[in-house]
Formats: sequence, C-alpha cells, structure tokens
Amino acid sequence: MHIAIIGAGISGLLSALELLEQGCSVSIFDQQSAGKAASWAGGGILSPMYPWRYPQAVNDLAKHGKTLYQSWNTKLLPISGTDFEIHETGMLIFDRDDFDIGLHYAEKHNEPMQYCEHLKQQQLQQINPRVSAQLQEAIYFPQIANVRNPRLLKSIITYLKLHPKVQFHENIWIDRFQIQSERINAIQASNGQRFEAEQFVIATGAWSEHWSQQLNLSIPVEPVQGQMLLFKGPENWLPTMCMNDVMYLIPRKDGHIVCGSSMSHLGFDKRPSIQTQQNIYKASLAMAPELANFPVVKQWAGLRPSSPSGIPYIGQMPNLDNLWANFGHYRNGLCMGPASAQLLRQLMLQQPTLTDPAVYAPALQLLPQAVSA
Ligand SMILES: Cc1cc2nc3c(=O)[nH]c(=O)nc-3n(C[C@H](O)[C@H](O)[C@H](O)COP(=O)(O)OP(=O)(O)OC[C@H]3O[C@@H](n4cnc5c(N)ncnc54)[C@H](O)[C@@H]3O)c2cc1C
Repeated sequence: MHIAIIGAGISGLLSALELLEQGCSVSIFDQQSAGKAASWAGGGILSPMYPWRYPQAVNDLAKHGKTLYQSWNTKLLPISGTDFEIHETGMLIFDRDDFDIGLHYAEKHNEPMQYCEHLKQQQLQQINPRVSAQLQEAIYFPQIANVRNPRLLKSIITYLKLHPKVQFHENIWIDRFQIQSERINAIQASNGQRFEAEQFVIATGAWSEHWSQQLNLSIPVEPVQGQMLLFKGPENWLPTMCMNDVMYLIPRKDGHIVCGSSMSHLGFDKRPSIQTQQNIYKASLAMAPELANFPVVKQWAGLRPSSPSGIPYIGQMPNLDNLWANFGHYRNGLCMGPASAQLLRQLMLQQPTLTDPAVYAPALQLLPQAVSA
C-alpha cells in the first residue's frame, strides 16, 4: 500500500516509520525542511507536565513514549548514526499547590512513570544541589525522562531518507485534495504538482486548520507560540529536570539546559521577544541561581498545535474513505508521538489497537455553510 503523509514533524515521521515496518511505502511532504517546526522547537519532556492537569486520553498515549523511543533508538542508531539520548533525569516539581494532588495521582495510577516522592530540603539538596535554597520542598518523579528532540528528528529523517520505500518532498506546500466519490485520488501542491497514493495522512500540526474549508469541517486547531532559551553549562551540571509555575529546566547530557516556556496566541508569528525571554531567564534563575554563570547560547520559538482539550485527533477523517488524521497534540506531541503513530497505523491497517481509539476519533463538526447547503 502506498501512503502519502503531509507534514514531516514527529507525528508524520513516526507514522511513516510505523507504516514502513508493516511493508507499506510512503511519500512524505513538508512545506519546509523536514523536522524543523514544533517538533524541533519543543523540550522533549517524556510526560505531560503536571499529568493530573490533562485528560486521561493524553496520559494514556504519553505513558508509552519512553519505552517506544528506547526501541526506536536501538533500531535506528546503527543506520542513522545519531543517538537521540533518552536522558533519565527525573523531574522535580516545586509548585506547592500540586504536592498533594501529585502524590495522590501517583498513588492512584501506580505506574513506574508516575512514581512520586515528597522531598524535604535535605533530600532535595542531595538529589539536586543546584536547586535554589529558597525552594525548600518538592515532589520528585524519578522515572520521567527527556529526549533530545532535534537529534531524534535527525535520526528518523536520516533513516527514512536511506529507506528504499520512502520518498521525501521538502519545501512544497500541499494545498488541496483531489476528491472523487468520497475518496481522495491525489494531493495537489501550490506549484501545481499532483501526487497520487492509496491512503493519505494529515500530520500538519499547527497548520491543520488549513483543511477546514476544502473538507467543510470545523478543525479547531490553532498555533500557540512557545519560547525557549538554551544555556550551556558543564557536562552533567544539572542532575534533574525542574519545574515551577509552568516553567521548566531540561538538562541534556552535554551540559546544555533547555529552559521554557511561554504560551502566546500570536498566529503564526515565531519571533522570540525580549520581554518573554527575560521572563524565562528570571524563572530559570529562580530555580537554579548559578545558571547566571553560564552563557545563553540560543533563543527560539515554536508553534504548538493546540486542540480543545489537548487530545490529538487520530483516526479516519469523516466522510472520506482514505483520509486519516494524526494532529492536534498541543503541548505533548513529543511524548505522545510514538503511541499516536502506532495507534494510527493500527487503525489504518485494521489491526488490534493499543488503547480504545474512540476518544481520539476526529468526529469533527460540519462547517455551518456545509450544513445549510
Ligand atoms: C516551546 C515548546 C515546548 C514543547 N515541549 C514539549 C515537551 O517537552 N514534550 C512534549 O511532548 N511536547 C512538547 N511540545 C509540543 C510538541 O513539540 C508538539 O506537540 C509536536 O511537536 C507536534 O508535532 P507535529 O508533528 O504534529 O507538528 P510539527 O512538528 O509542527 O510538524 C508539522 C509539519 O507539517 C508541515 N506542514 C503543515 N502544513 C503543511 C502543508 N499544507 N503542506 C506541507 N507541509 C505542511 C509543517 O511545515 C511542519 O513541518 C512543545 C512545543 C513547543 C513549541
């Protein structure tokens, strides 16, 4: 079976891997170079931040992320030559209002990823001596890891580009579907090129609303800007991830520390702003004051594909036999990515599914003009 995937972020790329494993061939399309949008910009935390603030459907996919990435890293590394570093640092959360609810959540779910301890100052300083003395307590999730997402994308893209059943089409905007009798025959690019396939996947992240008009469906996905900054400290300087008041520090193995992030509704504007960068800088130092000794080596912003409750749309699109969705992952597309792609593949190939797919089904409303027509 030949499948066309629109969007080469983590959602599209992992979908391609899953489908290739089953013997399908894939064509992947992106308006820019592959793997340069939200999936590159994100932090790579392999759990929703404050999991209790998210619907169960988000946590159900996220809980598979770490294990599935470990398997992918083992499979891809010999061919891609890039280790994407699943860094098992654990996560400290300093928000006092979340202590009880977090501990209760951990007890209720009783899964390794959600195991959680309450730390007083002495234990806290032992686990992470870089933490500010002002922060006297924390809850600690020792199993939460992060993935080095730019390397993750590089590894997958290298692997896919070497695969004989994959075609990459970069710097091409896919504009329209050619539809006949409730089936898509082909996709059409803005330069007029036409590409045929048997099945089609929309993995277009924050741009997914683009399809609303042609499909006469309301697709409530919009870009939400998030800014980040990057410090470079000594190797292994910060032993754990830290989170306070929705701001986080994510240590990489080589001493880079990713800090973020903001939330702004600015359309497709991806420019970092001085004010927001200062806020992130201050929030980072409030957690680990000695960060002030290290240079900020990069600042950037990315566009999260927000969906109404953060639950992605995964499954067959309404009224079309061969059009599939894998978009709308909002703040958790990196941790949900591997399980989302697996679920999509299982649905497309009519295989048993890893979880009940109903909650992810793109049961999208018709646009008002389509209803009245
Ligand atoms: C600052 C920030 C921090 C984050 N931190 C985390 C985190 O720690 N953990 C986590 O799990 N998630 C995190 N996220 C969220 C995560 O990055 C996203 O949910 C995820 O990357 C979405 O992946 P995607 O493949 O759906 O979208 P994208 O990566 O945006 O990919 C979509 C692709 O589709 C292409 N495209 C769109 N329309 C078209 C078209 N018509 N034709 C051709 N190409 C098209 C785009 O160019 C793009 O490359 C963060 C996001 C941001 C911005």
